[in-house]
Amino acid sequence: MELLFFVDERLPKALTDRFEELANEVSIIYKNASVIYAGSTPISGISGSYFTNAGSIIRTTAEYGTQRDAGRMIGKIFEKLRRDGRRVVFFTTSDITRYSGDSGYLNFVFGCTDPTGIVISMARFKQYPLETQMIILSGLVMHEIGHVFNVAGDTMRANTVYNIGMHCTDECCVMQQGLTAEQIRKNFSRTWKAHGKSRDLAGRYYCTLCREDIDRATSVRPLMPKRKATTTVRPPMPKRKATTTVPAPMPKRKTTTTVPAQLPPRRAEH
Ligand SMILES: [Zn+2]
Ligand SMILES: [Zn+2]
Repeated sequence: MELLFFVDERLPKALTDRFEELANEVSIIYKNASVIYAGSTPISGISGSYFTNAGSIIRTTAEYGTQRDAGRMIGKIFEKLRRDGRRVVFFTTSDITRYSGDSGYLNFVFGCTDPTGIVISMARFKQYPLETQMIILSGLVMHEIGHVFNVAGDTMRANTVYNIGMHCTDECCVMQQGLTAEQIRKNFSRTWKAHGKSRDLAGRYYCTLCREDIDRATSVRPLMPKRKATTTVRPPMPKRKATTTVPAPMPKRKTTTTVPAQLPPRRAEH
């Protein structure tokens, strides 16, 4: 799967400086993901703020300023950037929300994911020191990418729970659910404190069971004689059909195996 990260150029430099490394970490942890960080100009002549501004203004609050519709941003990103098999992850400066059928617009969301793209907002974490914001940013990225690969998505697994989407209950895992900025800060700080210095990159963020999910989602099946099916082997997911690649200004990476991910319907989650 190809992942394209890009940012609104108005994000603080201390945060955007971390993206190259984050993109690298995601490629190492998710062996079949090819991650490209396109900076704030994902397409020639268009900068990140163009996509933020594509989200219509829903409300303005004293605390978080202008709140925009992340669904609209995803629509605009799809229109301009989407290639089949590639997922686009955009980091906006604006507070965001999304429309949710019966309930209308939600109060806010930290992230908005649909099959065509992901938008993540740091707007509600501005009150924390930059160092804390970095930990939150890294956790949010690993959490959202985890959803893309269906990490902690198995209802039968020992430590998963349905809480506005499938999540992990391990206190030191980024796949925990957090519904407020403070909960998220606590969760990710705890995870970072417990394993942040670990040499095992995946172990810095995910619990053992979530790492097993990652291994399953990213392992390339070797050409070996057929094994007997056992209950521990997951059935392979249907392959996505190969598609024609539209030329784009981004540097090309090697073709990767695409694991179609099932995204749970999301509300005020991150
Ligand atoms: Zn976990
Ligand atoms: Zn989540």
